Amino acid sequence: MKAHDGIYVDGAWRPAAGPDTIEVVNPADEQVLAHVPAGTAEDVDAAVRAARAALPAWAATEPAERAARLTALRDRLAARAEEIAETVTAELGAPPKLSQTVHAALPVAVAGSYAELAAAHAFEERLGNSTVLHEPVGVVGAITPWNYPLHQIIAKVAPALAAGCTVVLKPAEDTPLTAQLFAEAVDEAGVPAGVFNLVTGLGPVAGQALAEHEGVDMVSFTGSTAVGRRIGATAGAAVKRVALELGGKSANVILPGADLSRAVNVGVANVMSNSGQTCSAWTRMLVHREDYEQAVELAAEAAAKYGERIGPVVSARQRDRVRGYIEKGLAEGARLVTGGPEAPRERGYYVRPTVFADVRPDMTIAQEEIFGPVLCLLAYEDAEDALRIANGTEYGLAGAVWAAEEAEAVAFARRLETGQVDINGGRFNPLAPFGGYKRSGVGRELGPHGLAEYLQTKSFQF
Ligand code: NAD
Repeated sequence: MKAHDGIYVDGAWRPAAGPDTIEVVNPADEQVLAHVPAGTAEDVDAAVRAARAALPAWAATEPAERAARLTALRDRLAARAEEIAETVTAELGAPPKLSQTVHAALPVAVAGSYAELAAAHAFEERLGNSTVLHEPVGVVGAITPWNYPLHQIIAKVAPALAAGCTVVLKPAEDTPLTAQLFAEAVDEAGVPAGVFNLVTGLGPVAGQALAEHEGVDMVSFTGSTAVGRRIGATAGAAVKRVALELGGKSANVILPGADLSRAVNVGVANVMSNSGQTCSAWTRMLVHREDYEQAVELAAEAAAKYGERIGPVVSARQRDRVRGYIEKGLAEGARLVTGGPEAPRERGYYVRPTVFADVRPDMTIAQEEIFGPVLCLLAYEDAEDALRIANGTEYGLAGAVWAAEEAEAVAFARRLETGQVDINGGRFNPLAPFGGYKRSGVGRELGPHGLAEYLQTKSFQF
């Protein structure tokens, strides 16, 4: 597969400082796809310098000009959607249809939304006898995971550019080819040199160098809670702006009287999609004791159907991690309804779609993020019990509530300690704020709330 053998800095592809490379592997057949540079602190430094040099001019552009560049970026991403989808399928293992309809399509919508927000946002407002300016935070270090390779990138880069910030991106080592395509699209969109820079590399090397760099004004990180804590501590010590999008263990609460079949089927699809590698996935299904056995049967049927269609998980490491959790669930006494830890195929990092019933709230599989195609069904006695279980993890990223009446679901959702809740199925909204309560993170992405993360305010009193 086509890959650049350099990093994208100051508007050009140039060789990395060191000789090391990262092997990019296709998780469906374990074949090596390409090699990309494993950037070092020296590369990160060059990229941050370029971003700093480009900052004054970019920060001073009219919002309309930034909107025009974002519109061009949206158009380039749309024009190259097929190539992007193929690349995501190759390096992440996502089924082609998912790559087309989600991995390639969603970033076009997000880029478009920020083109509009950049044009419409009030970067200056009057407040009593003050004028309040909303100015860019400065140079942004963006560190992204592999699960939605392009969406995670655009969810940071588009609002940063809209705000007038410049960016250095360190994408996940498992999915750098999508990031390279993104850099090409930025280049084609006419974004000035140095405004966006890409350094591929390992987390503890390039990622850490970026997070610790003095020339970076804000770090925006999406990934594991373990790494997020470290980045938060580093940013705190340096008194730097930080945004953290971390893990989740979201609850899908099915209240008595809801359309059980629909709630279970949509819930299973939500967990199995992208092979369960979605931080906002509703991995805990909470069902009233009276409906429980019927829900278990429906979930088993729905999950078994995924057997043929599901893609692999991203890496051997991730496969082993997920299998470890399935074994842990068995060891702790959960009832395996379908799936299990055995490999379903000889090649590729596949995990069987797995459903556990009789999961107790204190079990490891009900508390920790598995990040694989594993659904836990928990029974509850009444609404208060459901609420306690739903709120009973350290996470609070997303969730769902189903009820016969929308108002009943909304009343329940108001009491959930979580950032985003789908009511009776909901519908994805690229403008809605996305981010965590509790240990799921700090800050919000997408829409106007995502833009605000990259702005700081100044006021003049008259
Ligand atoms: P990870 O935290 O290991 O990696 C994420 C990114 O951080 C990668 O680019 C990686 O190279 C980099 N990184 C790793 N160590 C670093 C360090 N010491 N300093 C700086 N950067 C470093 O996560 P992962 O295992 O690749 O991804 C899976 C996890 O990410 C899951 O646990 C999931 O919960 C989480 N996630 C959260 C969201 C969200 O929006 N909340 C989205 C996707 C994934």
